[in-house]
Amino acid sequence: MSLLSVQEAQERILSRFKPVETETIPLSSSAGRVLAADIVSSDFPPFDNSSVDGFAVIASDLVDAGVASPLTLKVIADIPAGSSPNIKLMHGQAARIMTGAPTPQGADAIIMVEDTDFNNRNPGSNPPETVSVFKSVQAGENIRRRGMDIKLGSKVLFSGSRLRAQDVGLLAMLGMANISVYRKPRIALLSSGDELTSVESRLMPGQIHDSNTYTLSVMIEESGCEVLSLGIAPDRKEAIQFLFDQAIGRNADLIISSAGVSVGALDYVKEVVEANGELSFWKVNMRPGKPLAFGEYRSVPFIGLPGNPVSAIVGFEVFARPAIGQLAGLKSVTRRRVKVQLAETIDSDGRESYLRAITEERGGILYAKLTGHQGSGNLLSLVQANALLIIPAGVKSLAIGDQADVWML
Ligand code: AMP
Ligand code: MG
Repeated sequence: MSLLSVQEAQERILSRFKPVETETIPLSSSAGRVLAADIVSSDFPPFDNSSVDGFAVIASDLVDAGVASPLTLKVIADIPAGSSPNIKLMHGQAARIMTGAPTPQGADAIIMVEDTDFNNRNPGSNPPETVSVFKSVQAGENIRRRGMDIKLGSKVLFSGSRLRAQDVGLLAMLGMANISVYRKPRIALLSSGDELTSVESRLMPGQIHDSNTYTLSVMIEESGCEVLSLGIAPDRKEAIQFLFDQAIGRNADLIISSAGVSVGALDYVKEVVEANGELSFWKVNMRPGKPLAFGEYRSVPFIGLPGNPVSAIVGFEVFARPAIGQLAGLKSVTRRRVKVQLAETIDSDGRESYLRAITEERGGILYAKLTGHQGSGNLLSLVQANALLIIPAGVKSLAIGDQADVWML
């Protein structure tokens, strides 16, 4: 069994994944999906329009307008939002206009209703026959020009990005009712171990509830994938193989298991994978979660995470999340690191360590300290954490005030 650095293991895993196929879906169900094509924009706004409620005017008519010397214009049209004016403004004329309505030909500025004598008349009523203006305007004032926000032909969203609310909004603005995205990867998930029982069952002596299925399901779903939940495989080869075959039958893109991959006498997961595909079993230079299995079961990629609840989560973060990101079509599959200052001394054992930490901001600095004992079964310490503190390989101790990186959880 070889000892691998975390980075080496990550690279070997990533090199085996490529994006799943694409599909076209309605924009209304696109939240969180990964774009499969760059989006090229049309002009936005699509036409010149008013950014205020007021009067479309010719700026040069109003050079001498002031509070003491209002200038009066003839109102020749009313342009509500959603209409399409069929007029041309001449000198001495104005058109009442609403925010978002197209500016009429001939007009080169909009005077706000607040700067006219129409301000105090019945709002919403018919336009006046004339309007007196108390202020001059610059040409172009209060007009949003066609293409001012986005120019025709600009790339505004990129293949491989996950759609957020504002992205979906922009696609709607551009009239894209259907978009091309990567389909959701299907991730088969199983737990293994004779001691495990489902959360619905009462514990018999020696049993514990299967929690990894729950944590890992949430993480898979939150990363935009479909979970094929296979349940618990007892420590028997046929039982494990039966669940793996179900994953194949359900067209899984990746099989993730937890437990059964260390060196215990009953750790059969490895054997089953090896007999039906290929398996690499690595000792990764990390803490928690040293053993990691990776391979293929009947040509479907397989990641075997450690069984301890914290190790399973950390293993998922470090190895499975990037692999899933690659499957999902994401351009960037690495999590963003944030710098913290240590609020306590931290001893490490020289392995690359992912420690449960709580961060707190004081005076613009993010401080971190650990959330209790770092046993890999102590899930509560992860519940109390809001970050994973990353101690690089080779580091044995860090002092108060030293800098380190975290992943915010
Ligand atoms: P193993 O890798 O099978 O040696 O398991 C390591 C530890 O993780 C043991 O204490 C198991 O009981 C525990 N464990 C394994 N799978 C799960 C699970 N699905 N939920 C909670 N604990 C587990
Ligand atoms: Mg076991």
